[in-house]
Amino acid sequence: MAAIRNTLTYLVPDSFSVQPGQRVQVPLATRKATGIVLRAGSTLPPGIQARPILRLLDTEPVLTPELMELGLWIADYYVAPIGEVFRAMLPLRSATRRARSVRLSALGQQKLQEISQPEQEPAGPAGDLLAYLATRGSASVQVLRKKFSEAFLEALKEKWLVVDEVERERTQRQVYAVRLAGPVPEKPLRLSPVAKRILEALGTEGTAGDHRELLQTARADLAALKKLSASGLIELDPSKKSSLPGDTWAEGGTPLVLTPGQSTVLDDLTKQLESGQFQTVLLHGITGSGKTEIYLRLIARCLEIGRTALMLVPEISLTPSVQAQFLARFSSQVALLHSALSENERHEEWWRIRRGEAKVVLGTRSAIFAPLSNLGVVIIDEEHDTSYKQEETPRYHGRDVAVVRARLAGALAVLGSATPSLESYWNACEGKYRLAALPERVEGRKLADVEIIDMRQEFRETHTQVPVSRRLKQEIETQLSKRQQTMILLNRRGYSWFLLCRSCGQTQRCVNCSISLTYHRREHRLICHYCGYSAPVPARCPNCDSQHLYYVGEGTEKVEKKFAELFPGARVARLDRDVARRQGQFRHILDEFRRGQIDLLVGTQLIAKGHDFPGVTLVGVVSADIGLGLPDFRSAERTFQLLTQAAGRAGRGESPGRVLVQTFYPDHYAIRMAAEQNYEAFFHKEMRFRRMMHYPPVTALANVIAHGAKLDQAAQVAKHVGNFLIPLEKNTEGLKILGPTPAPLAKLEGRFRIQFLIKCTSRARLSTILQRLADYTDQQGIPQRSLMIDMDPANIM
Ligand code: ADP
Ligand code: ZN
Ligand code: ZN
Repeated sequence: MAAIRNTLTYLVPDSFSVQPGQRVQVPLATRKATGIVLRAGSTLPPGIQARPILRLLDTEPVLTPELMELGLWIADYYVAPIGEVFRAMLPLRSATRRARSVRLSALGQQKLQEISQPEQEPAGPAGDLLAYLATRGSASVQVLRKKFSEAFLEALKEKWLVVDEVERERTQRQVYAVRLAGPVPEKPLRLSPVAKRILEALGTEGTAGDHRELLQTARADLAALKKLSASGLIELDPSKKSSLPGDTWAEGGTPLVLTPGQSTVLDDLTKQLESGQFQTVLLHGITGSGKTEIYLRLIARCLEIGRTALMLVPEISLTPSVQAQFLARFSSQVALLHSALSENERHEEWWRIRRGEAKVVLGTRSAIFAPLSNLGVVIIDEEHDTSYKQEETPRYHGRDVAVVRARLAGALAVLGSATPSLESYWNACEGKYRLAALPERVEGRKLADVEIIDMRQEFRETHTQVPVSRRLKQEIETQLSKRQQTMILLNRRGYSWFLLCRSCGQTQRCVNCSISLTYHRREHRLICHYCGYSAPVPARCPNCDSQHLYYVGEGTEKVEKKFAELFPGARVARLDRDVARRQGQFRHILDEFRRGQIDLLVGTQLIAKGHDFPGVTLVGVVSADIGLGLPDFRSAERTFQLLTQAAGRAGRGESPGRVLVQTFYPDHYAIRMAAEQNYEAFFHKEMRFRRMMHYPPVTALANVIAHGAKLDQAAQVAKHVGNFLIPLEKNTEGLKILGPTPAPLAKLEGRFRIQFLIKCTSRARLSTILQRLADYTDQQGIPQRSLMIDMDPANIM
């Protein structure tokens, strides 16, 4: 069933009162669906036949007027069905649940009267059931079924019972911290065995941070715990369970003394905040300039003036230090929202924010929808990061949504980065955003020196294709002898990039995608990095039966192994998506690296993101320029950002840092300017290219992909799209349509893809055209899943 783009009208039964923003269950064709009340009126529009609402899912609106407006904006601008937008904004179960409650009927009352006469025979289980209900008033079906089984069914058949449908508020699963109230008396007053087990489990320290773990150890339930607490032996503290980062990160409780540069920027931001006017500030602060401290101060000020604050980071599991600092400064006022939370935890955090208990939210992309009221500041850290773009419907960009949300709330938006996206820096140049700059590192620390190693030269001199140049190898040896830490950046995970047949030149490709499979040594399989398909490693070429199969290119797995061999005695570890998938492993390695227990850390771009490891004095970039060969207009920007961020990890402590960049394109401007860490120079150079080619930010861009399980199905969809778009091009000013052509990834996840790139001088006009395209294709009966519409795409592959 396709998602609905328009809205529907329902009747509100007299017994309900509904408000905009409330969730309701409604009949939709033959099934039930969840809806959000947009507007409630007292009369039905003429000619409309409306069915009644079935039930209310929450007792109060879950969306504030501000968030509803934001949702409507997203649905419009990104051409997404409003229902899917609201679903993305509310990752929640309903707050009420439907329960069936049982009480005695008149017949049942009568029966109970009869059987309780003294001369009657004992009434057996059925009598017990009636007596049970008479004393309690009502009970749930589940409880009665469990307690009385047969007798319950009999009583139903005899019509002694009435079953009512009731709405129950879902009980919030509260987590308690537990501690002994005082010394346990020598001879405890008649303790039950379970109480004894609980006291025992509390151990010598007499405390437990999470009652659920305690109960597990003690083989006890919550009722037993509460009973013990009522007896005064222990105390329960409603606590907020947080995955508090370990001691390694436990700094950041006391504010630092600001540098003059930080002070100037903070003063300016504070003035904007206090003005109570919407405003967007781009904070361009080089790596290690101390942006985090500014964010913390600004948020503290925001709380002081009685408003709430929201900060987005790219990937929260990767930033334990930021989490630790937030918790240290704002303790229980902080709510964390990210993808590693369980459904229950997210539900709890969401309601803490909704109830106003949490006033500071730290989270990833979808945290932009946190139900904070009276929002004063929204901060987007590492605003250039591509993880802010959602790659499924609704395809919104978290940074751009943040700016809109700030506008609706009359709040200050702060976008921070050492390598701002071209879009944001352009907006600052155009005067749309205010620009604030931190051009120096804290404590007068120098940016790392960057040296470029020409790998073509290396090959000419050594005649071997090796991942690590002689120079980098020698530098790592020096590091090890000085006991200093090194990070090695690579941008491919796995062991080798692909398996190539030397006889026929074929590589092993994914059956679902037009992409080569990557060899993973741990699994000993060939894996697709796009769809996850995996295949065994063939002994002979499936195409020509030759035995000459070669592993080409180095991934993180191979370099990790190679380093362990090259530098015996060195402690080598690896961080990439494969490691991150293993629960707790990622954090563990970050902790160890932080404590100096790892000498060499090999990883993908994940290690270049925002981390602050003061002990790192050398960063080696083994390969970061493969991206330059991709047919995406942002490839130079991505490469520049990656290299600059990677370089920014070196020399953040007392000792200065160095960076070695190995490349096959030593003259490419993205590489050279990243080596100079000269953002402005890169910006101006890259803008010339964007202007010449009519690419964002100078024009608006949309990526429209028609796809299908068969090529001719995709072509059929593309034909309809073309029928709509191509005539428009002639009579719309500033509109340019490229396509239809096979997408760079011509097949993905088993579907063939045909692409249109649409450029338009006006973003608003482009968005309107896309909305009309969606209406048109709906009318043509094209299933929504056959057409991807991506406004402001982050990648056009
Ligand atoms: P950025 O995010 O701008 O790259 P961070 O906020 O991570 O930089 O700060 C870099 C380092 O400098 C951190 O270790 C931080 O604790 C430290 N730092 C920040 N401000 C100050 C200050 N005013 N005085 C001393 N150290 C500071
Ligand atoms: Zn072959
Ligand atoms: Zn695939």
